[in-house]
Amino acid sequence: MPAAGSERIRFATVVKMADEGAMEPNVGAEPEPRGVLEPEQVVRNWQEGVDLCLGIYQHLKEYVPAVHCSGSEVKSPEDEQAYQILLQTLEWFLFGETPADGFAKLEQNNGSSQLCGRVFKGGETTYSCRDCAIDPTCVLCMDCFQNSVHRNHRYKMNSSYGGGFCDCGDVEAWKTGPACKKHEHGASEDTANPANQLPVALAERAQQLFTIIFRYIVDMLIWTEDKELPLGLQPREKTDSYFCVLFNDEQHSFEHVIYSLQRSLGCSQREAQNYTTLIDKEGRRAVKHGSLHSCQETKLEVFNITNSVFQSPLRVEILHSTVVSHQTFALRLLLWLNQVISYSAGLRQIFCEVVLNQEPGSDQPCLISKFMLADAKLWKGARKVFHELIVCSLLMETEYKRLFAIEFITHYKQLQLEFVEDDHDRNVSVTAQSVQIFTVPTLARHLIEEHDALKIIIETIIELFSEHMDNGKLHFQSYSQDKLFRKQMVLYDLKYLLISKPPLWTDRQREHFLEGFKTFLKLLKSMQNMEPVNRQIGQHLEIEPEWEPAFTIQMLLKCILSVIQEWCASDEQVLLRAYKECHRVLSQCSNECNQRNARKQLNTLTMCGHSISLKRYLVSREPVSIHLPLSRLLAGLHVHLNKSGAINKLEEFVPPSEFQVEKLMDYPLRCLVLLSQVSADMWRRNGFSLVNQVFCYRNVKWREEMFDKDIIMLQIAASIMDPNQFLMFVLTRFELFEVFSKSPVPRNKDVIQQTNVLIEEFLHHIIMVVGERYVPGVGLVKKDEVTLREVIHLLCIEPMPHSELAKSLPENENNETGLENVIHQVATFKKPGLSGHGVYELKPEYLKYFNLFFYHYYKSQQTKAEDDQKKRKKQANSNEALPPPLPPQFFSTFVKVTNILNCDILMLVLRTVLQRAVDSTGRLWSEAMVQKTLHLICMALQEEQRQLEGGVAEEDVTFDVYLKATRVGSSAVNAESILSLLEKLKHVHQLDAQKDMINWTLQMFDTVKKLREKSSPCSVTEAGSQKTNETIQDKDKAERKRKAEAAKLYRQKIMAQMSAMQRNFIESNKHLYEKATEAPRPGTIRTEEDSAPTTEDSGVALGPMQGATATEKIILTCILCQEEQEVKTDDMAMVLAACVQRSTALSKNRSRTVTNLGDNYDPIIMHSDLSCGTHVGSCGHVMHATCWQKYFEAVQNSTRNRLHAELSFDLENGEFLCPLCKALCNTVMPVIPLQAHNLDSKDTETIAQMLTLPRWLQNVSARIAGLNISDTKEKESKQIQVSSVSWKNPVEFRSILSFGVQSPIVYSKSIVEMLQLFATAVYRVGLKVAPNEADARVPVMAWSACAFTIQSIENMLNDEDKVLFGSLPDRQGISLKAVLQFAASQRTVASPRVIQKHLTRLMSVFVPQMDVEDTWSILDIDFFHLLISLVLAFPSLYWEETVELQPSDISCAFNNLYLFHLVTMAHIVQILLTSTMDCPMEQDGEESEETLSATELYETLREYTSRSLECKPHGWYLWNCVKCGITPFLRSSALFFNYLLGVPPPEELSKDSSEGQFEALCYYLALPTNLFKLFQEYKDTVCPLLQCWCSDSSVQSFLKGDRTTVRYPRERNQLMELPDDYSSILNQGCQYKCSRSSDDETKNLALCMFCGAMLCSQSACCREEVNGEEFGACAAHAINCGSGLGMFLRIRECQVLLLAGKNRGCFIPAPYLDDYGETDQLLKRGNPLHLCTERYKKLEQLWQQHRILEEITRNQDANQIVFAFEWQQF
Ligand SMILES: [Zn+2]
Ligand SMILES: [Zn+2]
Ligand SMILES: [Zn+2]
Ligand SMILES: [Zn+2]
Ligand SMILES: [Zn+2]
Ligand SMILES: [Zn+2]
Ligand SMILES: [Zn+2]
Repeated sequence: MPAAGSERIRFATVVKMADEGAMEPNVGAEPEPRGVLEPEQVVRNWQEGVDLCLGIYQHLKEYVPAVHCSGSEVKSPEDEQAYQILLQTLEWFLFGETPADGFAKLEQNNGSSQLCGRVFKGGETTYSCRDCAIDPTCVLCMDCFQNSVHRNHRYKMNSSYGGGFCDCGDVEAWKTGPACKKHEHGASEDTANPANQLPVALAERAQQLFTIIFRYIVDMLIWTEDKELPLGLQPREKTDSYFCVLFNDEQHSFEHVIYSLQRSLGCSQREAQNYTTLIDKEGRRAVKHGSLHSCQETKLEVFNITNSVFQSPLRVEILHSTVVSHQTFALRLLLWLNQVISYSAGLRQIFCEVVLNQEPGSDQPCLISKFMLADAKLWKGARKVFHELIVCSLLMETEYKRLFAIEFITHYKQLQLEFVEDDHDRNVSVTAQSVQIFTVPTLARHLIEEHDALKIIIETIIELFSEHMDNGKLHFQSYSQDKLFRKQMVLYDLKYLLISKPPLWTDRQREHFLEGFKTFLKLLKSMQNMEPVNRQIGQHLEIEPEWEPAFTIQMLLKCILSVIQEWCASDEQVLLRAYKECHRVLSQCSNECNQRNARKQLNTLTMCGHSISLKRYLVSREPVSIHLPLSRLLAGLHVHLNKSGAINKLEEFVPPSEFQVEKLMDYPLRCLVLLSQVSADMWRRNGFSLVNQVFCYRNVKWREEMFDKDIIMLQIAASIMDPNQFLMFVLTRFELFEVFSKSPVPRNKDVIQQTNVLIEEFLHHIIMVVGERYVPGVGLVKKDEVTLREVIHLLCIEPMPHSELAKSLPENENNETGLENVIHQVATFKKPGLSGHGVYELKPEYLKYFNLFFYHYYKSQQTKAEDDQKKRKKQANSNEALPPPLPPQFFSTFVKVTNILNCDILMLVLRTVLQRAVDSTGRLWSEAMVQKTLHLICMALQEEQRQLEGGVAEEDVTFDVYLKATRVGSSAVNAESILSLLEKLKHVHQLDAQKDMINWTLQMFDTVKKLREKSSPCSVTEAGSQKTNETIQDKDKAERKRKAEAAKLYRQKIMAQMSAMQRNFIESNKHLYEKATEAPRPGTIRTEEDSAPTTEDSGVALGPMQGATATEKIILTCILCQEEQEVKTDDMAMVLAACVQRSTALSKNRSRTVTNLGDNYDPIIMHSDLSCGTHVGSCGHVMHATCWQKYFEAVQNSTRNRLHAELSFDLENGEFLCPLCKALCNTVMPVIPLQAHNLDSKDTETIAQMLTLPRWLQNVSARIAGLNISDTKEKESKQIQVSSVSWKNPVEFRSILSFGVQSPIVYSKSIVEMLQLFATAVYRVGLKVAPNEADARVPVMAWSACAFTIQSIENMLNDEDKVLFGSLPDRQGISLKAVLQFAASQRTVASPRVIQKHLTRLMSVFVPQMDVEDTWSILDIDFFHLLISLVLAFPSLYWEETVELQPSDISCAFNNLYLFHLVTMAHIVQILLTSTMDCPMEQDGEESEETLSATELYETLREYTSRSLECKPHGWYLWNCVKCGITPFLRSSALFFNYLLGVPPPEELSKDSSEGQFEALCYYLALPTNLFKLFQEYKDTVCPLLQCWCSDSSVQSFLKGDRTTVRYPRERNQLMELPDDYSSILNQGCQYKCSRSSDDETKNLALCMFCGAMLCSQSACCREEVNGEEFGACAAHAINCGSGLGMFLRIRECQVLLLAGKNRGCFIPAPYLDDYGETDQLLKRGNPLHLCTERYKKLEQLWQQHRILEEITRNQDANQIVFAFEWQQF
C-alpha cells in the first residue's frame, strides 16, 4: 500500500481540483433535475430523510455499480474521478461545507502527532537501540533514527518484513530518548480529549457517518455468499453480469499460475504474467467478465488444470458484478477513512469509538472484531489496507490501543487457529499485530491481570498442539512444517507478553499469573519425557525419528522458561507457590512412570560399608527421554529459592515427606548417562537423529534449559543427599557399580573400551557437579562473572572475532549476551588486515582461570584448548600442568556438595583408577581417566586447603582428604595409599604427558601437609604454603632451564657439524653446486646481464645518442615438466599463461563502449577517451609451448563431459586455469628475447648530419608514395599488363634504405605459431569477433593491446606512488616484455603489405598531403597508441618485394627519434588546445625560457585557430599545463622504449623522489627539457602541420564550445565515493525511486561502483533485453559500463557483486567494518558499519589493475559447492 503520507498530498490536490472546477459552493444553487446530483444536494436529501443509513445506502446502491465495471483493483483515471465524486459527497456531509475548507480547518486545529507510526514496507531498514530499547522489537524508521539520540548509541540495523511500524514517540518503548526531534513536541501536547475540541456538530456527523460507512465496508468485504447482496443494496434488476475472480495463494508457483491462466483463459503469456503479478500483489483479480454460464465454464477449466494430487486447485470465485463493484468501492472507502482520520486526532478518536462500540444488548462482536475475525478469509490487498487502518487509528492512542488489545485477546484463540489454517504470510495476517500489543509492558500486565492473557495464550498453544498429542505426550511424527511454523508464532507472543515483569505485585496479579503458570505446567507436562529413545542393539535403526520440531519448540521455550523463572523470583509468595505447583506436577509425572515399573523390586547395594536401595533401571535397555522441561524448571526455581532465602519456608509448601530428591534427580541423571553412553559409542546404531539431539542438548541455544539445568539438579541432590549414597546412585545409573565393587571381569575389547569411556564420563560428571559453580544462586557469583568465565574459556580455544564470541554465548530475552561488559577486561583486540576480521586475544593474566574440564566445551574444543594451553606453557618454559583453577565458594545451601570430594566412595574410585594405572597390566584404565582423577584429587586438596586457611578452628575442619589419601587401605586390605600410588605413577611411561600434573598434585599434598602440621595462626601458614609452592616451582624452573640450555648447546653442535659437512661437499663438487644454485625456481625468471653496458653511454633511448642494449640471457623453467631452457629465437617457444580482456578501467566516457567492436569497427586509432581498450595480463608462469598444448588438450578432454555450471572457466573461449596458480587464462603468449641494438658511433655522426627531420620526412613520404604507386601498379598490371606509369623517382623511393638495412631475425616455427595464436586471441577478445588470423586488423589490435597495457601499468604505478623502473613485480615485468616483443613482431603474423597500409594511414597525421581518405581530428587521437603503432609498424617500410629487410640499428634510432618527436609535438598541441581553459588571472610563476616559448607557441596556435582561443594565459601557466599533461605520456613512452630496446634508464627514474624526474624522462627520451624547443628546431616542418591541425573542424567546434573532449592529464578513474556511515547508504537507497516502476515496493538496489548508477537488481522493472536475451539491470549495465565487467554495491545486502559476462560472478563483503573489525554480509548482525578505506582501496585496485576476473574465478573455485547463481539475472 502506498504510504499514508504521500497519499495524503495527492488526495488533497484532487479534492481541490474537483472543487474549483465542479461547482459554486453557494447554498442557493439550483438542484439539478436528474443525472448526477450535486454533492451538496445529495447531502441535503440525506439529512432531510428519515433514515440516514437508508439514504446513504440508497445513494451507494445507485452510483457504485454504475461507476465500476472493470473488476480490477487498479483503477482507470475515469473510475478514480467517479470515486472522487462519491467520496466528496461524503465529505460534504461530514463537514457541512466545501471539503477543502473542512480539511484545512481540521489541519489547523490539529497539532503534530506524538507518535510517528510509520508503517514499514518489506525490506525497509529499521533501527533499534541496544542501549535504550525496552526490547528488540522497538524500532525506528530511518527518518526518526537519523533525528534521534540513538544515532550515536549501539544501534542495530535490520530489514523489515513489512507491516510493523515506527515506535518513535512511544514512551513505553524506550528507556531514554523516546522521540526524535520531529516527534518530541507532540509529546508535550495537553492530554485533553481531542474529540472534545471538535465542533459538536462535526463530531456528531462524524460519528454517524463513520458508523454507517464502516458497517458498509465490513458488510461488503466480508460478504461470503458470492451471489447476493445485503439488503438495501440489492439492485432493482439483476443482470447476467459476473466476474470470475482468481485468488492468490502461497502454494502455486508463479510459473504454474501463468501457465494455467494461459490455458484456461486462452490469453497471451504477457497478459497471464500481468494477471499473476497483480494477483500476487493484490491478492485477487477478476480474470474474466461475462455471463454466469461462461464464468462457470472458466472456473471449471481452472479447476481442472490446477487440481492435482500434489496441490489443491487455485481458488476461483464467481461474483456478481455489483458485488465486485461494492467491494472495490469499500476498499477505496477504507483508504479514504484512513486519510480522513489522519487529519485530526479528534476524528481518529471518534472513529476508534465507532469501531470498538458493541451494540448494546447485541451478542454480536464490535465492528472491528467482526472484521478481524474475517481476516483470514480476506484477500491480501484488503488485509493490507485494513491492517494499516488499525495501525493508524487504534494503535495510535493509548486508551484505544488498550480497548483494541482486549478485543484482540478475547478473540485470540480463534484468530490463531485460523492463522494456522491460512496459507498467507504472517505479515499479512492480523495476528501479526500481537507484537504491537504484547510488547507494551503496561498493556501486557493489564492483559494478564484483567483478561487472563497468559492463560488464553497458553491454552491456545495446547489446543494447537493437540493434534500432535499421543497418550498425553507430544509426539511430532508426520507434521507439516509450515503449520508448525505458524503454531510457533504463539510462543513468540507468549515471550512478548512476559518481557517485563511487574515492578510491584498485587494479589490479583499473583492469582492470574499463577493461573497462567498452572496452564503452562500442563504444556510442560505434555513434553516431560516426550519422544523417548531406546537403544538399538544388533540392527541399525531403519527410520530416523523426527527430532527437530521438539527442539525447535524447546529453543523458543528456553527464553520463556527463563523469563517465567524471573517473574517467579521477583515475588517470594509467587515463587513458593509456583515451586509447589511445579513439584506437584513433576511428582505426578514420575508417579505415572513409576506405576509402569511398579512390579520392579527395590535393590539394595553396598559399597565401603555404605548402602543404598533403588529400583533397577538401565539407560542402555529402557526408554530414556531428553525432554524434561518440568524437572529443569523445578531446578531453576530451586536455585531462585536458594538465592532469595525462601527455601527456609519451603516446608510450609512442600512437606518433607513428599520431597524425594532421588526421584527428582533420577530423570536428569538418566539423560546425562545417555549422553555419556553416546560418547562411549554405545548408541551408534540409533543413527544421526540421536547424535543431533545430543549435540543440541549441549549447544548454546538450548543448554541453559537442558544440560545446565540437569547438572544443577544433580548439584541440588548432592547438596541434600549423603555423598556416599549420591555417588552410589550415580555409579549405578552409569552402570559402573560393579566395575568398582568387584575386580574387573570384562574380556571383550569393545566392552573394555566402552567401560573406560563411561568411567571417564563419570569422573567428568563428578568434576562438573562439584566444580561448576558459575550460576548465581549455586555459587557466589554475579552474572558478569559468569559471562567472563565463558569468554575466557572460548578464547582459550583460540582468538576469536566478536561475532563468533557472541554466537557462542547464550542470549537473554533481549538477544543480549553481556559480552561487551567483560570483553575489554579479559581480551585485547587485534585489528584486521586487508582481509579477514579483527579478533580478540585473551590477556595472559587470565590464563590461570582455564579449566580443562570446563563443562561447556565440546570434546573437540577441549582438545584444542588443551593443546593450545600446553603449547603456550611450553613456550614460556614453564610447568605444563593444567591444574583446576580455584572455584568460587558455593552458595550456603549448596556447600554440602563439596563433601563428595571427601567421601569414601570417591576415595575408593580414585584409588582404584590409580591402582589400575600403576599395575598397568589390566586394560581398564586410560590416560584421560588418570587425568580426571588427578584433577579431582587436586580439587579435593584445594577444598581442604581452603578450609585450613579459612581460619576455622581445627576441629571444625571437616575435610580430611589428606589423611584419607595417605592412609593405607581403608576398605580393601593391603590397598596402597593414594599418595604412594601417585609416587609410583611417575614411573609409568604411558603417562609421561601427565608428569607435570602428577608433580603438581604431589606438591599440593605437600602444601596441605605443611598446613596441617602448622598449628600456628593461618597468616603464617599461608605465606609458608605459598613459599613452598614457590620454591618448588623455582627448582622446577631451574631444572627446566638447565635442560633447555643443554638442548640448545646440542643443537648448535649439530648445526656446526652439518655446515662443515656441507662446506666439504661444496668444495669437492663445486661445478655441480654452482649449477644447482643457478637453477631457478619453477616459473620464475632469471636474467643475466651478458655484456654489462658501460654506464656512461646509457641513458638515452632514442636517436644518435642511443645507449647500448643490456642484452640478457633468459633461462626459464617450465612449470609443467620442470625442465629449464634458455629462450632463443630459433628454439622451441616458451609461453606465458595470459589473460586478454576488454577493459574500460581507463575510460573517460562510459557511454561509448558498445560501438567499439564488431566486424565493421576500425581500430586503427584509439580514441583519446580510451573508452575501451584491450588489456593483457599474466600470472607470470611459463611453460613449454608443447607442454602447454598437451595440458590444454587434456583439460579439454577431461572437462568436456562435465556440466558447465561446475566449471569456473569457459572452454569454448579457450579458457583454462593456470596449472600452477589457478589464475584464469584465455591464451598464452610466447616469450621472445630482446634484440641487441648497438650503434656504431662513427656512422652515427655522419648520418646525424645528413638525416635531418625534413630530409627524413621526405624519404618517408617518397617511400610511402612509391609503395602506393607500386600497389596500384600491381593491381593495374594484372589488368593491363603494360605499365604506363613509371617510378616518379626511383632514387627517392629507395633513399630510405641507404641509411642502413639489415636482415631480420628469423623465429622458429614454434614461436611463429604461438605468436599467431596469441595475436588471434587478442583480436578475438579485443573486438569480440570470431577468430580470423588473416584479418587485416590483427596487427592493429596487437599494437593497441600493447599500448593499453603499458598505459594501465603506468596508471597503476602512478596511483601507488611507485617509481617507474624497478618496482614492477616480476610477473608484470616479464609479461610486459612479452607483450611488447609480441607487438613488435607482427610482421611474422601479417603480410608486409597490410602493415604498410596501416602505416600509410597512421602517417597521414603528419604527412597530410598523403593520399589517404582518413581524417582524424587531433582532439580524438590517443597519441600514445599512435606512437606505438607508428614505431612498431615503421620497419615495414623497408621491405622490398624480393628481399626481407629491416632498418639497421642506426636507421631505427633515427626513425624512432623523429616519430617520437612528431608525436610529442602533436600531443603538446593537443594539450594546449584542450587543457588550458581555466587559467588564473594572477601572475604566479616566474618568467623563464620555457614560459616565453610557451607563450610564443600559444600565440601561433591562436593565429591558426583564427583567434578562437580566446584568453591569453600566462606563459608559466601554459608551461605547467603542458608539463603536467604530458608526463603520463612521457612515462609510458619511457616504459615502452625501455622494454623495446633494453637501454637502461637513468638512475633518477628508479629513485623514490619526484625531484629531477621530468628532466630524467626528457633526457632518456632525447627531448629538450624545454619541450617547446622542438617547435623552434623543426619550425619549417611543423608550421604547416600546426596550421592543418588547427583548422580541423572538430577543433573549431570544440573551441566554440560545441563539443567536449578529454583534458590532460586524464583524471584517474576512481570508484564512486562512499560515505563513512553505512546507514547513509541505506538512507540513499530508501529514497531512491525507480523511474520505470510505478509501485513503491522496496527494490534490491545496487550501486554501480564505476559510475554511480543506481539499479534495481533482480527486479522486473529494470530488466533489459540485449540481443534477444533477458538481462538483469546489473548485468545489462555492466555490458556498457565495464565492457562486461561490473562491480556493484548491493545496498540492502551490504555486499559487493562482481560480475564478468553472462555467467560469471561472485559476492564479496562490502568494504565496511563494524567496531569489532568484521564485515556483515546480508546485515545479519546489524551493528553500525563504517567504511574501511584500505579495503575500499583494495577494491579500486582490483578494478584498475584488471584483477576482477581473477578474483571471481578464485572465488568461484573456492566455493564450488555453492549452487550456480544465474548471474545474468542480477
Ligand atoms: Zn518514525
Ligand atoms: Zn520520530
Ligand atoms: Zn539509544
Ligand atoms: Zn615443459
Ligand atoms: Zn600462474
Ligand atoms: Zn556504471
Ligand atoms: Zn526499476
